[in-house]
Amino acid sequence: MPVIRSSPAIVLRSWAYGESDKIVSFLTRDYGKIRGIAKGAKRSRKRFLNVLEPFTLVQLRFHQRSNSPLAFVHACDWVYVFRGITRTLAKIAHASYLVEITDELTRDGDDSLSLFDHLRDGLRFLEENEASTEFLTAFELTLLRLAGFQPTLEHCQRCGVRPSPGNGRWEFSPRDGGVLCRGCSGLRRESVPLSTEALDILAHFQRHGWMHGETPVFSPPALRETRAVVPLFIQYQISKKLKSAAFLDGSFH
Ligand SMILES: [Zn+2]
Repeated sequence: MPVIRSSPAIVLRSWAYGESDKIVSFLTRDYGKIRGIAKGAKRSRKRFLNVLEPFTLVQLRFHQRSNSPLAFVHACDWVYVFRGITRTLAKIAHASYLVEITDELTRDGDDSLSLFDHLRDGLRFLEENEASTEFLTAFELTLLRLAGFQPTLEHCQRCGVRPSPGNGRWEFSPRDGGVLCRGCSGLRRESVPLSTEALDILAHFQRHGWMHGETPVFSPPALRETRAVVPLFIQYQISKKLKSAAFLDGSFH
């Protein structure tokens, strides 16, 4: 008899499979990311009624199959839907982005209690608040750390020199996995210029995350600079374009 497991899970995405089934990607609290097949999900509305939609928290029951990378989904019981997200297109776009980068940066079976909590808290935040640059950047940098892709921001990735008022120009190099000082960045064509203030902002959010209600102390131009860097780094890590990132451009300042 297969061992049936149960865990709270957030639906990351689902797609049709064959005539009547769906494949669903879940971020579970207890077993990491699970991809499973929900038999009859396209036809039997009763069995998986509206629970395989994005922004839904479910109690997932499944078992792993020895002959397939896909788990078998026994049941998905509705726990909570982040309904507040569907109020505006901007919220949907931002929430889709959080879900997409979480899905892309996690591997099946990643140990994930903190990843699950991080995504759930991010979606909860968006239910009640508009996304800000501070929120997005802190969400991304925390996700990168939890998923094991933390970029080097405290010092030059190559020579180790730290930012100081005297060396004001930096470059972010996705290929090097972090920032380079001016002297080290000379040969990198694909790196992105970064002011010391923008670098400070990134290092701040990487270290502390972002508390809702924190008084913004960063200048808008420096904040905007950070948006040119972090999604680029994520795309480099996953080796593809993010579908939902295009909808965010210009939608916040
Ligand atoms: Zn250097």
